[in-house]
Order: sequence, then structure tokens, then C-alpha cells
Amino acid sequence: MDGFCHPIRDVWERFLQRCYEAFPCLSDPERRSSLGLKLALVAMHVVFAGALLILDRNMLNATRDNPWYFATYWFLFFVTLLQYFYTSGSSPGFVIDAMRAGCEIQSTSRRPPKTTKQSASVKDASLIIPIYSHQPVSTACSVEATSWVKLIMDMYPPGSSSRHWTCTYCNVVQPPRSKHCHDCDKCVLQFDHHCVWLGTCIGQGNHSRFWWYIFEETVLCIWTGIMYITFLRNSMSRAWWRDVVAIMLLVVLCICLIFLLLLLIFHSYLVLTNQTTHELIRKQRISYLRGIPDRVHPFSKGVCRNLYNFCCASRSIYTIEPLPTLEEIEDKKRPYTCWDIVTCRCC
Ligand SMILES: [Zn+2]
Ligand SMILES: [Zn+2]
Repeated sequence: MDGFCHPIRDVWERFLQRCYEAFPCLSDPERRSSLGLKLALVAMHVVFAGALLILDRNMLNATRDNPWYFATYWFLFFVTLLQYFYTSGSSPGFVIDAMRAGCEIQSTSRRPPKTTKQSASVKDASLIIPIYSHQPVSTACSVEATSWVKLIMDMYPPGSSSRHWTCTYCNVVQPPRSKHCHDCDKCVLQFDHHCVWLGTCIGQGNHSRFWWYIFEETVLCIWTGIMYITFLRNSMSRAWWRDVVAIMLLVVLCICLIFLLLLLIFHSYLVLTNQTTHELIRKQRISYLRGIPDRVHPFSKGVCRNLYNFCCASRSIYTIEPLPTLEEIEDKKRPYTCWDIVTCRCC
């Protein structure tokens, strides 16, 4: 697996570098317009799908012959755009919000027993914080912040200093796997990356929505490509410029498809191994991951459990995972035997 991770990391870093060189505004939050990027993305969809309607004069007849085929295509088209805006407007799970939710629980748990059932709990050694309040932080919260520090420091090995894990920008203690995003100016739980196209961070709260978005976008791209190829293969006589425009759009579509497929495969791999892009790329810079071999995925609970947690995780809770113990890491380092393969140890 060592050989698998390194090329992904190198290709991703090179790709980001090229993007920033080609479009310097993407790397500069001040010069980047979130609304402009959203409009550009919608315009791109409209151009690719709308051009087919203009180029193919036979499209209306084809729609009449196969209404379900085209109805499904346009349904996917609008669902993909809706998913884009849905993901773009979703919260990635900010540490400060989890802390406030934790504070609310702390303060309500001191009231009569009616509300105590909604309390921070430790399940499977992970800290579970229900999201049931988006009220502004109370004045008592600054006092309760000490409880947050204690809860989080229990997730790190004994003897760790809270100062080391305090974000210098937000002034909150970061749970394991979180990172400060300079674009959002907040710390994000299970930080994956900041997506400039969506204008939001991808983290614990919206990673599954992001995966579904790139999946839908990939299917839409393949389907649109098939429609372009069908148009070009059609031997009906037409003006030469229609073919030239269709070929040019198809080439751009193929480039987008390669990028989307790579992104989909990459994020599916991250989901199955319970990793984030940040952890995979910056492994050597994250102190608690440094020195762990690439083939060992410290937060993985097995392929099936990782997939279940990713797909079926409740959107009404924040889950904070503790760092794995040295024994757990050593166990994961153990080479696979024939018995491990028979008993599906990786699952
Ligand atoms: Zn921060
Ligand atoms: Zn961000």
C-alpha cells in the first residue's frame, strides 16, 4: 500500500500546484469570489447540456421517441445542481460549534432531569455530542470551556499539553483530526480540504454529501459524453461547424471526466480507510501520525464499519474520535496472514 499512497500524494500536490499557477486567484481567498465560482459552475453545466440542444436538430424528435431517457437525464442534471448547492450550504462541522453544543449540554445537565438524557456521552471510546441547539453561546460557556479542554485532552495520550493543541486563531482546543481552515477562519472537525468550487470546507459534517456530489457529477459527465458521441456518430448531414464545436466540447468534457473519476476513486479510498485528504497528504506534519507506515490506517475500524459510519452516521451529532493507542497501532501493523485473509481482517 506504500506504493499506492505516495503516487496519489504526489499527483494531488502537483495538481494543486498547477491549478494555483494557472489560476492564482484560486489560492487567494481575498481575490476569490464564491458567488462567481458558483455561477461559473452552473454556466458550465448549462453550456454543455444546452449546446446539445442547439447542435442536434434531431434532439426534439429523439426526446419524443425516448421520453424516459431524456427525462431521466434532465432529472439527474437538476439533482446534481441541487446537490451542489446543498453541499455548498452545509456545515463541515466546526469545532467551535461542537464546543458550544458541549457547553449547552454541560449547562442543561445541571438543570432538572428532564433534559439530562441529552448529554455528551462516550460510545466506543468516541465522544458523541448531540446537536440540538444553535443558540448563541451563553456567557457561562467561557467557564464551561474548561470542561471542553478536559473532554478533548482525554482523547490524546496522557501527559499531552492542551497548549500544544490550542488553535492560535480560534483559541479553542482542537480535537484529534481537526484543523484550522484559513479560508473559513475556523477549526473544522475531521478536516478534509477547503473546496474552492463549493466555497466551503469539507469535513465531518458534509464529507458524505461531497462524495455523493462528485458521484452524481461523474455520472452526469459520462451521460453527457455519451450523448455527444451519439451526436457525432449520427451520419445525418449538418454544417461542419456543428461537428467542430461538438468535438471541442467533448474534449473538455473528457478532461473533466478524468478529473472527476480520479477524485471519486481517491475519496472512495479515503472513505474505505477512514482517512482524510489532509491526513494522507500532510501525514508527516501531523505529530500523532508521524512515523506510522502508510499501509496502516490508524482510524480505520474495518472497511464495512468505515463505510457504515460514513453512510449512516447521524447528522445530529458531532463525533470526536480519540487517538488510537500504541497497542492498536501495533496490532494494525501486524502483517496479514492467510488466516487474516480468510477471516476478512480488513473488513
Ligand atoms: Zn482554529
Ligand atoms: Zn474552509
